[in-house]
Amino acid sequence: MTEGHELCVGYTTWDGAYVLGALARDDRREYEEHLSGCEACRTAVGKLAGLPGLLALVDPETAFSVAAQEDPPASVPPPPERLLPTLAGQAAKRRRRGRWWTLGGSVAAAAAAVMIAVPVTATVARDAGPAIVQQVVAQGPLKPQTDTPIQATFKVSTINGQTRVDMWCQYPPAAEADDASYLWTLSLWVTRDDGVQSKLAEWTVKPGQTLTPDGTTSVSPEQLKTVEIRNMSGKVLLAAGI
Ligand SMILES: [Zn+2]
Repeated sequence: MTEGHELCVGYTTWDGAYVLGALARDDRREYEEHLSGCEACRTAVGKLAGLPGLLALVDPETAFSVAAQEDPPASVPPPPERLLPTLAGQAAKRRRRGRWWTLGGSVAAAAAAVMIAVPVTATVARDAGPAIVQQVVAQGPLKPQTDTPIQATFKVSTINGQTRVDMWCQYPPAAEADDASYLWTLSLWVTRDDGVQSKLAEWTVKPGQTLTPDGTTSVSPEQLKTVEIRNMSGKVLLAAGI
């Protein structure tokens, strides 16, 4: 959650619900509009961006018992199940009751459960087969939109109800020694059919490095139009249609 920004009054607890895809359509639009002008809330959302994928690894009972207790249990019982739809449903329910501002606390507590549960579920997953259902929807190279040495490919997949974009991004070695230590800040963006754009990841890369950033969104793959890599000033360097 975000604090202290006066424009944020009324929005500070929306981040968790937004990341979990639990906001109603109109609320989501409204919040995205607020996000476009509010760095504090964008940061808050950014901090939670990887959460749905992690939450999917935790069984609901564990997460909710942790959320209820506020004290993490000493041991975490297997097996992992799909928590996200449950948690999103809870968020929607709280919303209907007018008490959904408490979601932020639950998300934080569930995140604590994730920290504990992941090593356990990783072991379980090896024995009982993968708990995550991942389906590749689209993949391919990104085409340069300007003169850039960067090469990249993307993969869009659905994973437990979320849309995940994986990126492979290579920056060739510098031609001149002077350039070898220069750091580039790049970001991964998706554009929806209705034109709404969102940043899913940001990373820095220097010549000679290959990175595999990824990001998750609650928007379904059918609603996504393009995936892009932009530089720090927002210029599109590479892009691909989905
Ligand atoms: Zn804000």
